[in-house]
Amino acid sequence: MRVGIGYDSHRFAEGHGVLLGGVMIPAPVRCTGHSDADAVCHAITDALLGGAGLGDIGEMFPDSAAANAGRDSIEMLALAVARVRASGWAPAQVDVTVIAETPRLGPHRPAIRERLAAALGIDASEVMVKGKTNEGMGWIGRGEGLACIAVATLTPSRRT
Ligand code: MG
Repeated sequence: MRVGIGYDSHRFAEGHGVLLGGVMIPAPVRCTGHSDADAVCHAITDALLGGAGLGDIGEMFPDSAAANAGRDSIEMLALAVARVRASGWAPAQVDVTVIAETPRLGPHRPAIRERLAAALGIDASEVMVKGKTNEGMGWIGRGEGLACIAVATLTPSRRT
């Protein structure tokens, strides 16, 4: 078995929603970034690539590449899963914590789990997404942006 960890953060700007795990959550802010700025997908992608020993999301999807501008992070996650599988490993389980003062994740958790599970090729019961505030402290507490931590376990994939 392998274990990988991923971290991501994105800055807030004025907006109408935050994209997390492929689900748009209504909010008075949005996340800025080169792609679609989905920090949950980015942290999971890094956890998978790290666990499989395949580098990181910045190497696979450089933010200097025009093709990655505004890119769908669920699609990038699915491509990373395919690369991980081709290397002999497969996602078994993913656990994610989002640290943000806003928006509240709870009501959207089932939809996020389903969306991520489909991209990962595992069951929604094997994907967990948890939300926490930073108790008003620091840059997260001031509402400057959000952070996300993901852990993924990998088991040997069946060779195709
Ligand atoms: Mg990112």
